[in-house]
Amino acid sequence: MIYNGIDFDTYFKHYPDANGFFGKYGGAYVSDDLKKAMEEITEAYFTICKSSKFISELRRIRKEFQGRPTPISYLERLSGKLGNVQLYVKREDLNHTGAHKLNHCMGEALLAKFMGKKKVIAETGAGQHGVALATAAAYFGLECDIYMGSVDIKKQAPNVARMKILGANVIEVTHGLATLKEAVDAAFDAYIKDYKNCIYCIGSVLGPHPFPMMVRDFQSVIGIEAREQFLQLTGELPDAVVACVGGGSNAMGIFSGFLNDPVEIYGVEPLGKGPTLGDHAASLKYGTEGIMHGFNSIMLKDANGEPAPVYSVASGLDYPSSGPEHAFLHDLGRIKYDVVNDDETIDAFFTLSRLEGIIPAIESSHAVAYAMKLAKEMGKGSILINLSGRGDKDMDYVIEHYGIR
Ligand SMILES: *Cc1c(COP(=O)(O)O)cnc(C)c1O
Repeated sequence: MIYNGIDFDTYFKHYPDANGFFGKYGGAYVSDDLKKAMEEITEAYFTICKSSKFISELRRIRKEFQGRPTPISYLERLSGKLGNVQLYVKREDLNHTGAHKLNHCMGEALLAKFMGKKKVIAETGAGQHGVALATAAAYFGLECDIYMGSVDIKKQAPNVARMKILGANVIEVTHGLATLKEAVDAAFDAYIKDYKNCIYCIGSVLGPHPFPMMVRDFQSVIGIEAREQFLQLTGELPDAVVACVGGGSNAMGIFSGFLNDPVEIYGVEPLGKGPTLGDHAASLKYGTEGIMHGFNSIMLKDANGEPAPVYSVASGLDYPSSGPEHAFLHDLGRIKYDVVNDDETIDAFFTLSRLEGIIPAIESSHAVAYAMKLAKEMGKGSILINLSGRGDKDMDYVIEHYGIR
């Protein structure tokens, strides 16, 4: 399918290009030291991509350890309530550890193993990425250093406990505001000092090349499975596919399966408390082009052009930018990006729980909320929602701040 001059039949061959660009977005804006490390990872990745041993090992792990394929569920009662549109969810909440993040963490850790590395390093904010990576490290017998701001360590006690139980070292970062940004800096510093022995594992389709490509490829299992399952279940493709976008990995995962189809695709960003800068994290809707954390994309900036403070009720979505491929597909118009606010999200959280017996992560509830609005607009047809994770981690927070609705 050709869309605005881009041939999606051959899209994955050409995007990103050899330097990691999706049009003008992406690249690797890093120091020379780090550039060398990135090139080493890129080369290793292209080698293992062609290795039947690597591919069959990853396939085995997905089946035997992660519990894939995850099913698609038809939302009978919710669909009935909204009219004539049929809603379906791809159940990444049923992936081991309860979210999609393990899909790329297992891939990255397997790559580390193939490269002969001893250790994986990452930062974490809310702790979800840290837990997924700690799980992968335990599985492969790798050391795991997770950098985390002291403010987040206090807020996210259960995830800190999980990481420690899984054998990871949680390294407290105390400088500056002691949250995600400082943790990223500390993790990168540690990595540059020891890149021969370890590999940095990014938590989304972000960062310098090759990470946006690699994480997309590892997550594309969602879209590949979903397309086949949906066809089998209904005999047709969905009319629309919806996913929430923080950094954008679960979204790129499912979207990649439908880019070449006559399917409307919607990425949903968090509008938080409203459109004022600082109250949301809707970078593609309100941001402008800029470079941060080693890549060029669309980002929210403060008055000095630095990454702006962001907010969302979903801690997995409050990042001031999105992956470069999203910025590219946004400008191209192939994917439509829209927003839902905190309140609509919490409503969707309860609605899906009550009507379908599925408690969604607050991140995923953004996609559900948008699909509910879209269903009313569409009037007929079908929508496939990527349910990126389960909501167990969010229950205490929701009850404390919103009560039972
Ligand atoms: C981390 C997380 C997200 C956001 O990350 P993306 O890279 O945008 O997918 C979404 N849903 C859940 C459940 C998460 O844990």
